[in-house]
Amino acid sequence: MKITKIETFVLKVALGKERFYSSQCAFPERNSLLVRVHTDDGICGWGEGGQYGPAEPVAACIEHVLARHLLGEDPRDPVMLWERMYCGTRDFGQKGTYIEAISAVDIALWDIAGKAAGMPVSRMLGGAFRDKVAAYATGCYYRGEDYLDFRKQLPKLADEAASYARDGFKMLKVKVGLLDVREDIERIKTIREAIGEDTRLFIDCNHSYNAATAVDFARRVEQYDIGFLEEPVVPEDHDGYRRVRSRTSIPIAGGECEYTRYGFRDFVGKGCVDIAQPDVCVCGGLSEFSKILALCLAHNTLVVPHVWGSGVALAAALAATAVIPNTPHTANPVALQNAPAIEFDRNINPLRDELLTEPIRQKGGFVEIPNKPGLGVELDESVLKKYLHRHEEVHLS
Ligand code: CA
Repeated sequence: MKITKIETFVLKVALGKERFYSSQCAFPERNSLLVRVHTDDGICGWGEGGQYGPAEPVAACIEHVLARHLLGEDPRDPVMLWERMYCGTRDFGQKGTYIEAISAVDIALWDIAGKAAGMPVSRMLGGAFRDKVAAYATGCYYRGEDYLDFRKQLPKLADEAASYARDGFKMLKVKVGLLDVREDIERIKTIREAIGEDTRLFIDCNHSYNAATAVDFARRVEQYDIGFLEEPVVPEDHDGYRRVRSRTSIPIAGGECEYTRYGFRDFVGKGCVDIAQPDVCVCGGLSEFSKILALCLAHNTLVVPHVWGSGVALAAALAATAVIPNTPHTANPVALQNAPAIEFDRNINPLRDELLTEPIRQKGGFVEIPNKPGLGVELDESVLKKYLHRHEEVHLS
C-alpha cells in the first residue's frame, strides 16, 4: 500500500454574536485543519492538527514540506514516518506549527492503518483499558457584550453551570484569568453554588497569571473543592509551575501547549504538573502521544488529554484516552484521581457537532470509545463542503 494523495481542508464557522472569550483572546470563529490521506488501494484516513491558532500555516507545512516525506510511502508505518517528518523539519520545527502539521498527518496514518487491519486505533496502539470514559464539560467562558462586567455575568454563569449538571455531567471545567482575581473568585463561588457539592469542579487559567498571583488565587479558591488548576502560568515557566504546585493543595494540570517527547521530558520530568494534558492534534499525533504517555507513566503522572476541535480531534483523543492505564492502578478507579477522562468542550462548534455522520455524544457523563476500524468515524461530505474555507491537494507525481 502506498500514499497517493494528501488533501488539506481549512474549515471555518463564524460565531457572530455567539463569540466568547478566554483570558487570552476572543473566539469569533471555530476553525479546524483537517487532512485526508489517500492510498492506492482506496483506503483514506482522516486527521486533524493545530487547535489554537490559524489553520492555514499548518496546511502550508503539510502541502509544501511534509507531503514529500509521505507520498509513495506505506501509510501503515506511522512511527517510522513520524521520525522521518520530524528529522526532516527539526532545524526549523521542533515546536508549534510543524508539530501540529505532523500531528494531523500522523492521526490520518493511524486511521488508515486501523482500517487496513480491520481494528480500531485503540487496539492498534496496544489495547483499550475501557470501552467508555468519563467526560468533563468545558464551559463557563466569558460571554456576551458585557463579558467584562462580572456582576452582570454571575446569574448567567450560574444558569450555564447548572445546565451542565442537568445534562448529566459530573465534572465541569471553567475559565478564569481575564478579570481581577477577586472578581474571578466570585465567579468560582457562584459556579460552585450553582452545581452543588456533588459535581466536581476544575479551573483553567489559560496561563494568565504569574506565579505569585497564581499562588494567591489558588489559596483563595481551595475552599471551593477544586479538582485541578490548569495552566496557572505560561508554559515556558517551569520554575513558576513548580512554585505554584508546591504552595497549594490543588493538583496542578497543564501541557496543552507542550510538544513532543522532548517538551514533556522537561515539563513532566521537572515536576511541573500532577496531571499532564497533551493534545493529540498538537503534541505530535498518536505516535508521539504513545511516547509521551510512557514518559508520564515513568513519572507516575496521570495523563488526561486536552481536546479542542472537530469530531475528528475528539475521535483521535478518545482512542488515546482508551489506552491510558489507571495511574496508579486501583481496583476502583476514579476519573481524574487515578483514571483519565475526556475533555468535552461545550462551547458552540458545528465542526464538532455536525461533521461526523454519527456525532460523538455523551450520555450520563460518559462517552463511548469508537470501536470501528481506524478512528471509527465517517465525515458528512455536505457538511465538509458547507464550512470549507480553503482546500488544497498534493499528488504523487
Ligand atoms: Ca486549557
